[in-house]
Amino acid sequence: MTFSVHPFLTGGPKLLLIGGQWVEPIGGRYFDTYNPATGELLAKVAQGEAADIDRAVTAARGALEQGPWPHMTPSERQAILLRLADLVERERENFALLDTLDMGSPIRHTRGSVGLLVDLLRYYAGMARAIHGETAETSIPGMFACTLREPVGVVGAITPWNGPLWAAVLKVGPVLATGCTLVLKPAEEASLAPLRLGELALEAGAPPGVINVVTGFGETAGARLAEHPDVDKLAFTGSDETGQKIVRASAGNLKRLTLELGGKSPHIIFADADLDAAAPAAAMAVFANSGQICSAGTRLYVDRKIYDDFVQAVARHGRGLRLGDGRDPATDLGPLVSAMQRKRVEGYLDGARADGAQFISGGDRPSDPALAGGYFVNPTVLAGVSDGMRVAREEIFGPVVAAMAFDDIDEVIARANASRFGLGAGVWTKNNATALRMGRALRAGSVWVNCYNALDPAMPSGGIKASGYGREYGRAHLDDHLNIKSLWMQG
Ligand code: ADP
Repeated sequence: MTFSVHPFLTGGPKLLLIGGQWVEPIGGRYFDTYNPATGELLAKVAQGEAADIDRAVTAARGALEQGPWPHMTPSERQAILLRLADLVERERENFALLDTLDMGSPIRHTRGSVGLLVDLLRYYAGMARAIHGETAETSIPGMFACTLREPVGVVGAITPWNGPLWAAVLKVGPVLATGCTLVLKPAEEASLAPLRLGELALEAGAPPGVINVVTGFGETAGARLAEHPDVDKLAFTGSDETGQKIVRASAGNLKRLTLELGGKSPHIIFADADLDAAAPAAAMAVFANSGQICSAGTRLYVDRKIYDDFVQAVARHGRGLRLGDGRDPATDLGPLVSAMQRKRVEGYLDGARADGAQFISGGDRPSDPALAGGYFVNPTVLAGVSDGMRVAREEIFGPVVAAMAFDDIDEVIARANASRFGLGAGVWTKNNATALRMGRALRAGSVWVNCYNALDPAMPSGGIKASGYGREYGRAHLDDHLNIKSLWMQG
């Protein structure tokens, strides 16, 4: 299938969605977006600049304060979210294909994601009816006191390319549930599904200006959104370097921030674990989405008693994965998102070689000539890694796992926690006492025991330390979009 037959990629360049209209960028410039599996051009996309962000923020402010949106009831907002979920469900195949084309992820993976995202939208629809303040018994005679939960206002969102639709739903859902408005700046590598989602939000009944999508580059459009004085909250998902820039840029109006940044998550395998289940899980904790997942379990700590066999089993699983064009349903792993990303990953592999790491599998590009046009890297298992090596400290965002042996529980807790990141952590053991101790001791936003990367709309997800702050999913996600007002009434 080529781009010309995708219904969203016909009919000229992709424009900006501002105030309910498709508009051309003020500067009149467009950039190309490519399929990373083949290098083929998919579409020309509007290059929004600071002035376009300003227009979109004005539209979002207008929709927040005038028109039907501020008067809509929770029931009406819920109905919009339910319709949006139905529309995304109806277009499941188109959305899956759009993400597969735009960032290379296998169609089996993107189809699964769309199903989960429909469920997530329905969760937010439910949450639209579950916003509660509380009354307080003060000690002031005659006083009635309660709290109101009010929308935080205009939300700016800046998203990455590793799950384009996913990231967009995580920003659109809570905005619609709480009555905020949104200016979304998707990643320049993968803007297509977020644009289509914005279009469907309109069709679902979100009034013009509630959901705006401005495509463009981080240093221009993204930076303007981060610093914009009329944006009340910024939700950022991306690298920790950019996260630091966002924090600085946001200081001018002290906007509320939530940051979902990178990780270097430990995945810890005790000798008493169900190793037949743990080995494929440890492999896919890193190789899924070609390693382009913030919570990938990239530091694999294995009990020395089982280290050699376990590392071989992970490598075997990696070698059995089929690399290919994501459109092929038989593909397990797609390419990396861009030539630049592959260069970055290969830089880490060169560093590991120089540091003396042992390559158990991978470390190179696939030899199949059919894959030569894409940005592929073979799933790579590194052994003989020490905690100080760069491959064990820095986020690679590629299919590369660093395996290290440990001897006892105190040692592995200390080593797992000795990271500047704290996003996820995995533990495999059949011993409940070990599981609970690890669950408490590991310093991360999520700890998975006998599973990895489990996800549910009801469970908050986010990081500590350099992995960011704030939570997505769950009640906490809605709370981040609401202000608490204290109302005092003297009787
Ligand atoms: P990566 O390096 O993996 O692409 P980034 O954190 O740079 O990750 O990108 C995530 C998102 O942040 C993208 O939408 C990108 O355009 C945006 N971005 C990049 N630089 C900036 C910046 N200086 N200010 C605001 N947004 C930015």
